[in-house]
Amino acid sequence: MTLQFERYAKVARYLDPQAEFAERAIPCEVRRDPLTGRSGRVAHVAGFHPHPVDFSGLIEATRVGCPFCPERILAVTPRFPPDLVPDDEGEGDGRVRRGQTTLVPNLAPYDEHSAVAVMSRDHYVPLDAFTPELLADAFAASIAYFRSVQRQPRTTYQLAFWNYLPASGGTQIHPHLQLFATDTPGNTLEEELAASARYFAAEGRLYWADLVREEARAGERMIAEGRHSVWLTSFVSQSLLADVLAIFPEQRTLTTLPDDALDEFCRGLSALLGRLAAQGIYSFNLAWFPGTPDREDVWLHARLSPRVYLTPRIWGTDTSALQHLYGEHFMVQTPEDAARGLRTIPRL
Ligand SMILES: [Zn+2]
Repeated sequence: MTLQFERYAKVARYLDPQAEFAERAIPCEVRRDPLTGRSGRVAHVAGFHPHPVDFSGLIEATRVGCPFCPERILAVTPRFPPDLVPDDEGEGDGRVRRGQTTLVPNLAPYDEHSAVAVMSRDHYVPLDAFTPELLADAFAASIAYFRSVQRQPRTTYQLAFWNYLPASGGTQIHPHLQLFATDTPGNTLEEELAASARYFAAEGRLYWADLVREEARAGERMIAEGRHSVWLTSFVSQSLLADVLAIFPEQRTLTTLPDDALDEFCRGLSALLGRLAAQGIYSFNLAWFPGTPDREDVWLHARLSPRVYLTPRIWGTDTSALQHLYGEHFMVQTPEDAARGLRTIPRL
């Protein structure tokens, strides 16, 4: 069960109406994720580019009544009970604050401990305007919240994720992170944890160490590397446009991540968002995947998945029955091509 990058070329044939019905061969590719074995595809490759979407009307329309704007947030968002988040976090009013971030309980919780970190005072922050400082405050507030609630039972896994703009499933324009602490971390993380344990038992080595070593040797999906983190495109993405993985060697959870590693993540993320914006991408999902403090077979990592409307003219999303019901994702660009376009990120 060594680490393998499995890929299979396939060819579809048809008689082409645009070439007097001459036979034409169209290549596509099936891949398997080296950790989970889940399959994905490279297809629809020819000529895809994100169609520009004008969000300006939506931004203005949602500013009126936005629950996260400074003039409204304290009146309409809940406060934490002091036994869950002590008053010495923030300003003693049951909320956690760091810089521009205000972190509050989620009015519509996903689990026993569920919160929202409102990241900015501005209602709208363009993709290329998230500074490392703005990001660092938001994640630092999230970690402070997790440190408070992890004293409670059933908080084994701390999940932090971000849906930016509506193509990602985000329900507010105003930038915010979703957070929850739980003993049931969801199917994907459970699957990764189980596969990491199987690999460790079979090989006597960490999958994540092998992955970083093999990716560095191949080089074709590497984007950037710092003292604390390795950035690469995912061999099998859940996005049409290639997911980016940020892996933190030897690190296990967000609450035990050193401050300078978090700072490096925020510098890398700020630069990555700038590159994606320059490529015409306007929406994304980001999620952290932690292990637990006692597990030596998993390294903390984050996955960023660009999201677009496939056909904005008819509000067509990028998620069809293929992804939503069959769980089969396809990429319209190879992760290797995507990595080439992202390598201009400065040294972390
Ligand atoms: Zn707002």
